[in-house]
Amino acid sequence: MTSDTTPGQPVPEKAAAPLVSLKNVNKHFGDLHVLRDINLDVSRGEVVVVIGPSGSGKSTLCRAINRLETIDDGEITIDGKLLPAEGKALAKLRADVGMVFQSFNLFAHKSILDNVALGPVKVKKTKSAEAKENAMALLKRVGVDNQANKLPAQLSGGQQQRVAIARALAMKPKVMLFDEPTSALDPEMINEVLDTMVELAQEGMTMIVVTHEMGFARKAADRVIFMADGQIVEQATPEEFFTNPKSDRAKDFLGKIL
Ligand code: ADP
Ligand code: MG
Repeated sequence: MTSDTTPGQPVPEKAAAPLVSLKNVNKHFGDLHVLRDINLDVSRGEVVVVIGPSGSGKSTLCRAINRLETIDDGEITIDGKLLPAEGKALAKLRADVGMVFQSFNLFAHKSILDNVALGPVKVKKTKSAEAKENAMALLKRVGVDNQANKLPAQLSGGQQQRVAIARALAMKPKVMLFDEPTSALDPEMINEVLDTMVELAQEGMTMIVVTHEMGFARKAADRVIFMADGQIVEQATPEEFFTNPKSDRAKDFLGKIL
């Protein structure tokens, strides 16, 4: 039997290919040009933090990667596959892209355990017992396994957000998107969520994180992307970006948040 790859050895082209790739992506809302020629490659295991003023297009960028928004032109690929427009292929791709929002969006009338277990049962046809077992393990990982039988409203905001992270992880995503995951939280709960995210980053998860939490960026990010007016204005390592921003827009922005 012949094979053109050696078992156990990485396939170079595949290992080097970006996991998430955006090429010349444009998006308008009416006359408003919210994403302007966005080009962005995110490698496997890379953690990218996206920052920028309100209205600069950060959420739209995340939503486009998950196809919660359509794009006008350009190309988005996940693991080499173009984002499908709809149907089963889209559902399958969405499972590869976990998303955590500012508002936790848990199912209010389902238990914490069901919130995490239901996605795999519905989308991946995982057997209920197995899905629940996986869900418990994930709840343990994010430190809320003792809340499994409660309803979301019985948990603190920080706990609910950690459940939302567990729920996204239950689908075994290839990449996790976080859109300002701590900005709706009381200050004392921010760190418990950021710590969970730092652990995830250290375990090698590919992550795109919209956040202004510089502590997180410094600890976990490989790269910071600064957006303004729908464009990527500059990108650098966190150290470089926070100590030596290049553009006036970035300097101005950092002056306001630091
Ligand atoms: P950010 O997350 O950086 O604050 P957004 O991506 O949410 O920015 O929004 C970018 C711009 O697009 C803003 O001016 C916003 O008002 C506008 N926008 C976002 N969503 C919609 C929508 N569904 N319809 C019309 N305009 C929108
Ligand atoms: Mg936003």
